[in-house]
Amino acid sequence: MDGRRPLRCAVIGAGMAGILSAIKLTEAGLADLTVYEKNDQVGGTWSENTYPGLSCDLPSDLYSYSFALTPEWSHPFSPGPEIRAYFERVAREHDVLSRVRFGDPVTQCRFADGRWHLTAASGHRDEVDVVIAATGVLHHPRYPEIVGLDTFEGPMFHSSRWDHGVRLDDARVGIIGTGSTAVQMVSALVDRVASLSLFQRTAQWIMPQENPAYPEERREELRTHPERLSKMRQELSDLFDHFSNAVVDADSAGIKMIEQACVANLEESVRDPELRERLRPAYRAACKRLVISPDFYAAIQRPNAELVTEAIERIEPGGVRTVDGSLHELDVLILATGFKADAFMRPMEIAGRNGATLEQAWNPRPEAYLSISIPDFPNFFMVNGPNGPVGNFSLIEVAELQVHYILQLIERLRGGECTEISARRDALADFERAREQAARNTIWVTGCRSWYLDDRGIPAVWPWSFVRFRQEMAAPDPRAFEYA
Ligand code: NAP
Repeated sequence: MDGRRPLRCAVIGAGMAGILSAIKLTEAGLADLTVYEKNDQVGGTWSENTYPGLSCDLPSDLYSYSFALTPEWSHPFSPGPEIRAYFERVAREHDVLSRVRFGDPVTQCRFADGRWHLTAASGHRDEVDVVIAATGVLHHPRYPEIVGLDTFEGPMFHSSRWDHGVRLDDARVGIIGTGSTAVQMVSALVDRVASLSLFQRTAQWIMPQENPAYPEERREELRTHPERLSKMRQELSDLFDHFSNAVVDADSAGIKMIEQACVANLEESVRDPELRERLRPAYRAACKRLVISPDFYAAIQRPNAELVTEAIERIEPGGVRTVDGSLHELDVLILATGFKADAFMRPMEIAGRNGATLEQAWNPRPEAYLSISIPDFPNFFMVNGPNGPVGNFSLIEVAELQVHYILQLIERLRGGECTEISARRDALADFERAREQAARNTIWVTGCRSWYLDDRGIPAVWPWSFVRFRQEMAAPDPRAFEYA
């Protein structure tokens, strides 16, 4: 109608980033779109993770869409079910739900004759001009390679595949892992179970953070003065800018303050000197993603809690055998062992121009220009793709900036300037070179193992400040892309 080329779009994933993409595409007049979702509900990570204690360790007033701020949060760091309900509500209110094809994962995306040809698991096919892959970062569980894992006789499951049919009350429960997931779970479970054994391979620094419920008066006040929400979000965003400046410079004053806060938390919270030393990490705070908890140290000091620091030798039918010969007898074993952080939209089969496959493009490891565009994969854009700002940041803020950027690229297609757009190879190579160089100064390379590090030990994340990310996302550099 307005002389612009009509475009059909597919959004893959109906989590935080997919809902956002659908809303923003529609607002831009690109309403001919389908959102493909493998699960039977929206919410992505917040629908897959349902473990006890699940919450977001980023402030809810920041971990909200800028266009859908809400006075209704129950806590400064709200629980997972409330966050999932928030995404569902936003999706419903913006008419995204009616555009989602649930329970039918996309298995193949093939670029031919200027369009993307999608096939879903059901055999359903679609042909679109633009694909936005909003498939999330941490959604493929990583199961530990431990001898005898499949011999355990009781219920055993990964933290993101929680089996709600299993009774934990009064059970002897073991948890393997000490990341953010395990820490939240320990606090939530310890008072419910007969005994809790936490198998720690590596100790974690814990940043203390109180989380008292908000009083109703606060919600009432913000309902009356909703303009205060944006101001608060801005203030929190500025605060997290300081955090991003700290972690990308291992010598910064900010990182020293974080270290001091974590050391003080350990010293002041753990009474038994022997336990304290076993909980003390041998690397610097924030080298691994910082774990935030108001009560983990209190929980692990409960009489029915046990911190196991002997390495695991094998899993047996009755429990976990550690290298000192002890058998830790268990009824239930929970694997809080993290995710395959380099999978992104795989195992989807994706083939770009001239049949180039994603497996080839991502051999030896995932790369994308500004984490959004891959050379020879025209009109295919990622939200929260590889090497972007992940960590203790609001991925909503990241995704909003990326979608804003992607829409500017799509506008070129719509305006008829070109029919195909993808990052240039040299632009990606320059970006990766600079990124790897900058990553050497970050806290993430100061002597720990973490899911941030790639197979070479280089952090697969944005190594500059968040302010710089915001600047990069303001407008695409036309020279970084090739057009057809
Ligand atoms: P994770 O941080 O990757 O932690 C996995 C844990 O499992 C580590 O302690 C690891 O030990 C341990 N582990 C893995 N394989 C093992 C083995 N074979 N034997 C013994 N231990 C083993 O995973 P996560 O806790 O699920 O968290 C992943 C990410 O999800 C977080 O970093 C965060 O980005 C996100 N998350 C966010 C929130 C939030 O509130 N925003 C909450 C939960 C998760 P090592 O340290 O020795 O490798």
